[in-house]
Amino acid sequence: MLTTVVFDADETLLDLRPAVTGGLAAVLDEMRRRTPRAADVTLAELESDWGAVFGELSAAPVMEIRRAALARSLGRAGLDDHLDEIADLFFARRFALTRPFPDVPPALVALRRRYTLGFATNGNSRAERCGLAGEFAFEVYAHENGLPKKPAPEFYAAVVEVAGVPAEQIVYVGDSWEHDVVAPRRSGLRSVWLNRRGLPRPAGLVPDAEVATLAELPVVLSDLPAASSDRIDLCVDLGGRRRDSPA
Ligand SMILES: [Mg+2]
Repeated sequence: MLTTVVFDADETLLDLRPAVTGGLAAVLDEMRRRTPRAADVTLAELESDWGAVFGELSAAPVMEIRRAALARSLGRAGLDDHLDEIADLFFARRFALTRPFPDVPPALVALRRRYTLGFATNGNSRAERCGLAGEFAFEVYAHENGLPKKPAPEFYAAVVEVAGVPAEQIVYVGDSWEHDVVAPRRSGLRSVWLNRRGLPRPAGLVPDAEVATLAELPVVLSDLPAASSDRIDLCVDLGGRRRDSPA
């Protein structure tokens, strides 16, 4: 029986892209205010700096990756010494602009009637800074107390531990195929792929369910078949023979 629904944050509950773009636009304005050398720097270049530093820092805290990206951006205009102030400016703007997608509040209201709700993220998005204060029974953040990031199995083990129920009672919901579907399943959780953009489903594993919007989630979860271990127990109860085995 499903008792607990745990959500990824960025691009699942939170519309991150406009917030990051708005934060970087504020950074660019400030760079231009501080030096004429920033006149030719573009927003596209600032956006590309994340990708340029992400590869070698992928396991680092997201805050650290963003600071490295900002350092690279400031270097474009000789503003290397301004990192602390500019990072503060970026994060203030980024959090002020980070808000839930419109389908999130009604879905949380509906789901809370039946399930315990959790929030578990690799990212910078603290629930209380992104319009989701008080919405969850528990919150799990990578890098707090040394917790490794998704897709490390330790991350999902921490979710199970804080949820306080067996893994098969938990469904993880998120937009990342690798982090939110494949890796939770390896750790014994159920998973629902949120595919807002209608991407083709990767080959291989079949998620427990796929939804295009969180509005579908209450019905999809109530229709979800029992976890495989439940099914085996059920089949054993029905006369000791596995119904899915060849007769
Ligand atoms: Mg995500």
